[in-house]
Amino acid sequence: MTDHLVTGVRKTLSADATHRHISEVCTQGAIRYTRQEVIDSIRQGDSWKTLADGYRAEIRIIDACPWEGCALGPYIATNPNSSKKDNLENLDSC
Ligand SMILES: [Zn+2]
Repeated sequence: MTDHLVTGVRKTLSADATHRHISEVCTQGAIRYTRQEVIDSIRQGDSWKTLADGYRAEIRIIDACPWEGCALGPYIATNPNSSKKDNLENLDSC
């Protein structure tokens, strides 16, 4: 089991251009992983957390993008109600 700390995200525009999707994440070693690689890794038992401003939050697999009406999935998220910097959606771009 490997622990990954995510410090940044890359986003791409959704197909209908209404919002953006996390397409890749970056870890402390400035290594990039695609969203699918993160999902596969979590399913294999690895631990993925965000790290920002000293806060950490666990990344989990969710069925679909939280945007209403969007069915893209599976997707990854931390606590969707958190407004803190450690929310996966709030990380700096990398
Ligand atoms: Zn979406």
